[in-house]
Amino acid sequence: MKRDTRRLVRSALLVVAVTAVAACSNPLAGASPATSPSTQPAATTATPAAEGDVADAPEPTPTDPPPTPAASSVSAADRLAGIRSRTIVDQLGGRLVTVPGDVKAPGKGRVWRVKVQVEKGLDVDGQAFAQFVLDTLNDPRSWGHGGTRTFGRTDGGSYDVRVVLASPATSARMCLPLRTNGRLSCRNGAASILTYYRWVKAIPGYGKDVTGYRRYVVNHEVGHALGHGHEDCPGRGRRAPVMMQQTKGLLGCEPNAWPHP
Ligand SMILES: [Zn+2]
Repeated sequence: MKRDTRRLVRSALLVVAVTAVAACSNPLAGASPATSPSTQPAATTATPAAEGDVADAPEPTPTDPPPTPAASSVSAADRLAGIRSRTIVDQLGGRLVTVPGDVKAPGKGRVWRVKVQVEKGLDVDGQAFAQFVLDTLNDPRSWGHGGTRTFGRTDGGSYDVRVVLASPATSARMCLPLRTNGRLSCRNGAASILTYYRWVKAIPGYGKDVTGYRRYVVNHEVGHALGHGHEDCPGRGRRAPVMMQQTKGLLGCEPNAWPHP
């Protein structure tokens, strides 16, 4: 029997149907804190359903060719955060792709292993997003302040905290029973779930400093995973605590992204 070894080169043209979702009415309604102000470990409010119905799949190609840049004015700050398109598609399939790679924790203290996942279908550079997350957490102003902790990245099954970037609909589902409407990020068990809606848009209170807001939301949601509860604005003109729900409004406080600014 003869086998014909012919290579078939198939080029698939991916047409991404972009559904611009402009439903931003009542963006903050029904939202409530991810944890009560206590220092209970994260696992106490874990909802197995939110953790269990998503798939882990390693991503084979860390650097995909950039998609068509049409119509989305992606800034340098956006690219730093992994954003390749500012179009927000409300519904994707809910499949989470783990950003491949292991990165050794650079600092001192207890090592926290962070697994970073991006929902399949989001136009995101997973490696850039993961680096943004880890750079934030390893900043001296973050939770490792003073050499108490340091954060490494893993793509394996064993981790301490999982940071997920997901579409509004998927994040809303993963945040249940907390109601976020896909407009707020949350922490559920060991997962810090960031909604792409807010990752792209940030909040007016940070002005043009979208990077500052993105650092804030990483620090805030991972702060919950580390056991930190919410804090209030200490007074008009004062610096907002990182564990204040700044996305809901700064209430007279100055924006602040860091636990140890
Ligand atoms: Zn919170």
